[in-house]
Amino acid sequence: MAGMMHQVMGRLSWESLSEKDKKIWNLKPEIPDDSPEFLKSYQPATVEEKIGWYSLFLDLMGWRTKEIVRCGKFLLDSSHPVPHGLPSASLDAVGTDEKLFDTFAWRMLFRQFLPLLVENLRQGKNEQAALLAGLLAHVIQDAASLGHLFPNRLFYDLFPEEKFHLDYHTLFDQVTPEIKPVCPVLLGTSIPEFIFRLAMLGEQNYQKALSLIVPAIHACQSENREVLKSLCQIPFQNAVFQVACLFHTAAALSSTIEPEEKQNLETFDLTTAVEHYLHPAPRYGSILPRNHNIVNNRFVPLVLDCGKGPQPISCGLGLSSFHSFRYLLEPGAFDFFQGTVGLSCHYREDQKKDMEVEFFICLDNGWNRTITSDLEYGPELKKVFSCFLQPGQSALPFSIELGQTQTLLVAVLPHPKKEKGKEICWYPHVVLAYPRLVKKEKEKH
Ligand SMILES: [Zn+2]
Repeated sequence: MAGMMHQVMGRLSWESLSEKDKKIWNLKPEIPDDSPEFLKSYQPATVEEKIGWYSLFLDLMGWRTKEIVRCGKFLLDSSHPVPHGLPSASLDAVGTDEKLFDTFAWRMLFRQFLPLLVENLRQGKNEQAALLAGLLAHVIQDAASLGHLFPNRLFYDLFPEEKFHLDYHTLFDQVTPEIKPVCPVLLGTSIPEFIFRLAMLGEQNYQKALSLIVPAIHACQSENREVLKSLCQIPFQNAVFQVACLFHTAAALSSTIEPEEKQNLETFDLTTAVEHYLHPAPRYGSILPRNHNIVNNRFVPLVLDCGKGPQPISCGLGLSSFHSFRYLLEPGAFDFFQGTVGLSCHYREDQKKDMEVEFFICLDNGWNRTITSDLEYGPELKKVFSCFLQPGQSALPFSIELGQTQTLLVAVLPHPKKEKGKEICWYPHVVLAYPRLVKKEKEKH
């Protein structure tokens, strides 16, 4: 992202804070003497200006590894440069890598720097905390720029060029959409929850930005700067929000949390989370439909019998046989995974009386990346809940204790039968209603 935009976005995030938050941060306009040399080439006149300047953090740090390695405490695992934006599994920025975005690498950034940032604030080392906030602001802002979403050679692999060359990365970095201040929200009552929710906002923005790539490429090709600007406005605005929430939550965690803000954080709706390692369901494909089942390629409402007859489900996931997907949780952020599962009671094709279709949930304290076509993920991934779905049966609520779980896996697996030498399998429409992470056990849905 261009330097000017980093500064505009950093300043806007700071301006979005309440007077109370700014007071807790209690920053001075001057760059402190013990800050890294690369920040000292400019003297800001105000705190807003300083936060804008700090948002340039990684660009100011330098591009040559030998310059960067001198800054031990601003490296990942004290050895690896922090990526500009979304990282691949090897912790490199995806833009210059051959691999795609990796959720675990993204999480590592926040696991390393957020606890340190909050700890500094709690100890009154506010200026040190601001340096880390600047570092993270830079990463979050770069992650919102369309040239930082995936290996950049894919632009040319997907859109081969003949007569004219377009430098998409630079074109995307140079857009200057109009962005506004935001209203930050609290991202957690604990550091693990802060890490989880901030990482999740970044992943949601990544998905949003990915959906803008094709229209943005077309806007570049037709030299339509206005369209490009308005497309990029959304992810940029989201990044301003993420950074403002970062400042606000760090302030709250180092002082006092308003009770009314706490109330909104008792649960986390998993339909808003980004799932990973999605095993396709043959009848649905590689999609996990939100609030719908898919019948003959059409999105239809979720309907479930929770004991009082068919009810529409306003928030849930539509599943089918061989679907499996996982979430990377943050140990200590939430205590339970809850929801209600059953067969759709409106869309009943392929439901047979004696069918064997299992719904199960597995947990692993590590991040499980196993991919299999059998939906068997090894002994580390422990099955903690299983039920066989039967036509006419009421939906089943569940509540799973999470402990130190990082991997939460949900799957629908049919166990085919042989009849007269022919294999019989079933692909019913399954509804997972109100899947959510909960801090303390509440009444089941
Ligand atoms: Zn950068």
